[in-house]
Amino acid sequence: MIELKKKQVWFVTGSQHLYGKETLEKVAEHAKTIAAALNDHKLIPVTVKHRPTVTTPEEIYSVCMEANADKDCIGIIAWMHTFSPAKMWIGGLKVLHKPLLHFHTQFNRDIPWATIDMDFMNLNQSAHGDREFGFIMSRMRLNRKVVVGHWQDNESIDKINVWTRAAAGWHDWQSAKFVRFGDNMRYVAVTEGDKVEAEIKFGYSVNTHGIGDLVKTIAETSDKQIDKLVEEYADSYELAPSLLKNGAQHASLREAARIEIGLEAFLQAGNFKGFTDTFEDLHGLLQLPGIAAQRLMHKGYGFAAEGDWKTAALVRAMKVMASGMAGGNSFMEDYTYHFNPDNRMVLGSHMLEICPSIADGKPACEIHPLGIGGKADPVRLVFGAASGPALNASVVDMGNRFRLLVNEVIAVAPLHAMPNLPVARVLWKPYPNMHTGCAAWILAGGAHHTCYSQNLTSEYMTDFAEMAGIEFVLIGKETTIPQLKNELRWNEMYYGN
Ligand code: MN
Repeated sequence: MIELKKKQVWFVTGSQHLYGKETLEKVAEHAKTIAAALNDHKLIPVTVKHRPTVTTPEEIYSVCMEANADKDCIGIIAWMHTFSPAKMWIGGLKVLHKPLLHFHTQFNRDIPWATIDMDFMNLNQSAHGDREFGFIMSRMRLNRKVVVGHWQDNESIDKINVWTRAAAGWHDWQSAKFVRFGDNMRYVAVTEGDKVEAEIKFGYSVNTHGIGDLVKTIAETSDKQIDKLVEEYADSYELAPSLLKNGAQHASLREAARIEIGLEAFLQAGNFKGFTDTFEDLHGLLQLPGIAAQRLMHKGYGFAAEGDWKTAALVRAMKVMASGMAGGNSFMEDYTYHFNPDNRMVLGSHMLEICPSIADGKPACEIHPLGIGGKADPVRLVFGAASGPALNASVVDMGNRFRLLVNEVIAVAPLHAMPNLPVARVLWKPYPNMHTGCAAWILAGGAHHTCYSQNLTSEYMTDFAEMAGIEFVLIGKETTIPQLKNELRWNEMYYGN
């Protein structure tokens, strides 16, 4: 779906000429070894490319400018094997627009007790060389991730993996296009937002197309294309009897397929990475896109309903970040609650559009009436999701800033069958508990729409927010309401009014 290995992270080592040629040769050799090890490691999804050691302000400036201009470079990993006086870095860091990870590592894992001498000390001095580099980034107020640990240690490598995936999601947003069919759902506040500011801050654009443009593309779908997709539906899902070839509602399944084919063609033709629609504006569409939105999400497109372009873009970014990982990411909505004191939890779902990447088992393909919108019954995939750790993420527009809000949750298996529920569903318990988790979410202004992730942790989302330079608020195991309220107030000061 989304190929991350084509994206590059540049491994840049800083040094200086003080130590002589021989030491610089060793530095280069060690840096190459580390870059190759990261590149070959199964945990790292992107290409790690070794770049020549930088030893002067000119070389540093030049590699930063090159990184900016390179369309496949998604970020820089910087390491100071020796001491690289950090005033040399100011010019380069001032212009660098790509994310930076400061890898505070050392070539040698252990101190060679019996042989250690001053030559060894002068070569393996990142313990203080990296502090000099850290200072200048702090002095310049630059966001970055600092990863500490030996380069062969899986804990360090996994932190780098997380950052490279966040960088891939961030890179994907730059110049991305999202299409909005129709406007925001009437009167809804949280799904609104400043699209101009979003483009300045996030790099993606959101533009509208009349639903008639989409209807026209859908009308161009051939019967042969529909035959083929209907066959794929039959192979992939448990079709409801009425949708089968001679079933009473087979024509509706064909119509759903026609919508999916037309929508995908429209997205491909416009090079869009995601879309949003609204049930209030479907002129000429026979059904609200149900299975179409679900399957297009599964293919990697961002989606959110009711004109919610912020969540559509977030779903796309999270799908890029999680590319190739087990588990899925889906548009989601906090729908209804189970308030039994012994077992409080949230039932998450939507009218139709939950991504089957989170499905536990083979989805059922069903058709049911939709209470709103006044259209024909839409075809949809119905399924449950696996239990286990997950999170909900939401981007909200606070007027003076964007806030990325994350709530860590634990998904649980349903207590009972829900035979009359005609939509995909997930049950989860928010951390730190139902009351505090939901209160914190509401105090932070989190939307009812989210991206639900089974495979990304809050560390991915923290890295992503830092790359975007936006506020990040985590509701997790340690959250308390007084602390969260203070955090929100302090952030208000930091971001200004
Ligand atoms: Mn909704």
